[in-house]
This record gives sequence, C-alpha cells and structure tokens, in this order.
Amino acid sequence: MENTAFIALGSNMGNRYDNILYAIKKLTSHSDIKLVNYSSIYETDPVGYEDQDLFLNMVIEVATDLDAHELLDRCLNTELELGRKREIKWGPRTIDLDILIFNQENIETEKLIVPHPRMHERAFVMIPLLEINHESRLPLKDKPLEAWLNELPDKEGVRIWKRKNGEDVFEPIES
Ligand code: ADP
Ligand code: MG
Repeated sequence: MENTAFIALGSNMGNRYDNILYAIKKLTSHSDIKLVNYSSIYETDPVGYEDQDLFLNMVIEVATDLDAHELLDRCLNTELELGRKREIKWGPRTIDLDILIFNQENIETEKLIVPHPRMHERAFVMIPLLEINHESRLPLKDKPLEAWLNELPDKEGVRIWKRKNGEDVFEPIES
C-alpha cells in the first residue's frame, strides 16, 4: 500500500456509533484500503449551524493503493449508502467523511481539496487527529499540528465519549 491518508468521520443522526462503525467497515471492506490506526471517539458541540444534535467525531488512518480522488469517491459512496442527504450546509448528517491529509500532497481540484481547508480551524478534527498523528505538518504550512490546536478557541466543545483502548471499545472495528 503506497499511500497514507487520514480521514475524519462525523455523525449526528440516527445511531451515531453504528453509523461510524459501519462507515469504517464499508471503507475498509476491499483489500485496497486498510485500517492502520484510529482515535478515540469524541462527542462534540455542532459548529457552524448550531441548532442540531451533538456529533460523534473521530479520525482514522488508512493505507491505500487508491489515489486521492478514488479515495474520495469511496468516501462519497459510503456516505450515500448510509443515507446521507445534503440539505442544510453544515447541517445534520448520518455520516460525514472528510479526507484530511493524503501523504504530503497538496491537491486543489473542483471536487477535492487536501489538506482539508477547514481542518485546522476545527477542534473536533484536530483533537482526534493529534491523538494518532504527532509528526505531521500540513503541506505548505510551517507549523506543527499541535500549534494549530493550541490556538483553537472551542476545545471544551470536544469531549471524550469512547476512549481508545477502553474496556468495551472497538472490537467491531477489526477489519
Ligand atoms: P462538509 O464536509 O464541509 O460539511 P460536505 O461533506 O457536504 O461538506 O462535502 C461537500 C463536497 O466537498 C464533497 O462532495 C466533496 O467533493 C468536496 N470536498 C472537497 N475537499 C474534500 C475533502 N478533503 N474531503 C471530502 N470532501 C471534499
Ligand atoms: Mg464532508
């Protein structure tokens, strides 16, 4: 597997935990995407459009033979399978899958921007990402991830919900 990607997952509709587990299972159900690592799951206050339920958020690391656009298609298909409808910008969703980092690549096409353009402004992304990725800097940005996180104001809106390595956690994630 030649490529390393970090993907953020979020859900605030239906059974949020099942949605997240199902999305990970789906994404890694073919041999071309392999789960390498995953963060704890956090419960987070909605950002942007605030009149909606709390989210569960986490970040996974995958190894893949796919290129970034193929990986995005796999993410969008998985969202569709989970019944995601795009109605309100930043509104409720059964599952949201965002590619945060793809190797050290900088990609800017109509369909895909990597690193994800808003990730460093979002504590609900940066906290789980930092849990599993200490080395990365964002391409073109000469600042460690930790420094971005330190500057974020809304960190108390992100609370641990299921700790990685916790007692009852994550057996279902094995892929
Ligand atoms: P958001 O995640 O900001 O709430 P959506 O999930 O509705 O927004 O995504 C809308 C579009 O964003 C997707 O159809 C996809 O083509 C595009 N997009 C651009 N960059 C990325 C990325 N890094 N990861 C996922 N989607 C992306
Ligand atoms: Mg998205």
